[in-house]
Amino acid sequence: MIARREIVVLGATGSIGDSTLDVVGRHPARFGVAALAAHRQWRKLATLCRRFRPRFAALLDPAAAALLERDLAGAGVPTQVLAGDAGLCAVAALPEADTVVAAIVGAAGLAPTLAAARAGKRILLANKEALVIGGAAFMAAVRSGGASLVPLDSEHNAIFQCLPQGYAGVPQAAGVRRILLTASGGPFRERPLAELARVTPDEACAHPNWVMGRKISVDSATMMNKGLEVIEAHWLFGVPAAAIEVVIHPQSVIHSLVEYLDGSVLAQLGNPDMRTPIAQALAHPDRIDAGVPPLDLARAGPFAFAAPDHARFPCLGLAYAALAAGGTAPAVLNAANEIAVEAFLAGRIGFTDIAAACAHALDAVPAGPVHALDDALAADAAARAVARARLGIAAATAAGEG
Ligand code: NAD
Ligand code: MG
Repeated sequence: MIARREIVVLGATGSIGDSTLDVVGRHPARFGVAALAAHRQWRKLATLCRRFRPRFAALLDPAAAALLERDLAGAGVPTQVLAGDAGLCAVAALPEADTVVAAIVGAAGLAPTLAAARAGKRILLANKEALVIGGAAFMAAVRSGGASLVPLDSEHNAIFQCLPQGYAGVPQAAGVRRILLTASGGPFRERPLAELARVTPDEACAHPNWVMGRKISVDSATMMNKGLEVIEAHWLFGVPAAAIEVVIHPQSVIHSLVEYLDGSVLAQLGNPDMRTPIAQALAHPDRIDAGVPPLDLARAGPFAFAAPDHARFPCLGLAYAALAAGGTAPAVLNAANEIAVEAFLAGRIGFTDIAAACAHALDAVPAGPVHALDDALAADAAARAVARARLGIAAATAAGEG
């Protein structure tokens, strides 16, 4: 008899939301959907509510929530609709749910993910930005709330699988020497450097191996994504930056590796399909079908590995620098990056301006200590203002989907 898990999906209309609900839909006896939440894409959420019949749906945008509510009432779907930050945080802490998939993109995911942490949920974390901003304070909220974190990010999920069962966040005690994070190098790994200033948003979003949301796709093209993942790995696994190495592996089949003191290196392999780490995390410690075809090693290889080129990918070095500076610096880096990526996707700045804006924000907003999350949030706000001023853009236009 399998205990049925009740799931909340934050970011249900996005790429991770799609993959999560695909896996959930394959196992109706194992998983129920307690709540679905998103920004303002009410038509897509209405379709998902018709299919999964959650008790609650939440949209950040109140006008979109009203349209969703009317649509569902008209169709006789018994889902209660909530709105705003309070609605998102309420579904994240829903008493009848045990598992929360944190898949909102960017800093916007921090408050609801924290609500899930404080409510003691099993958090399946895709929203790496929340951890980058919150750092030690976020991890403290997880511990004091009695919550647990299972990484969905493919690299961190791979590391989770390569570490010993019950790993308690102390690498020395587990005999771990290093963590090796693999990176594809994105669409511009071999593009002449002189052309990078002129690449378009669509080129940046055309990832060679993964289909993802536009923000993380741009982050993959700059390798800021890998930089954020270094910071994410530091907090998730208690490993110092000096023991986290990034390796370019263009095939995206080896999702990351753990090196032990005896020289053993354990890797997790699989087709580049997020349904694999999602299914692993949803069912853990069981294993379930994810709908992913078996890996054909003869066709997947040959595998290549290389050190990252820091001149091509300055964002990676900025992330290591922010982690070394500590305190509020990772929050500053993340906030400046969010502003710059949004401006790049809107066609307002060039690709290479992203790294320049991030470097400028790290210089302009001095790193301070994070005693509480408010310190990180204040640094986030300061960095957004600095980045907007640098890039010559006005404050707070709503980003994203319609
Ligand atoms: P996406 O853009 O496809 O989807 C984002 C989701 O977040 C949507 O459901 C959107 O409605 C919601 N959202 C956006 N802004 C919001 C707000 N202010 N309030 C509430 N909801 C909001 O993004 P994605 O690719 O699914 O990525 C989601 C997260 O997962 C990101 O943090 C990303 O770094 C991480 N991640 C994604 C992948 C991937 O393969 N897509 C892999 C690893 C990690
Ligand atoms: Mg990743």
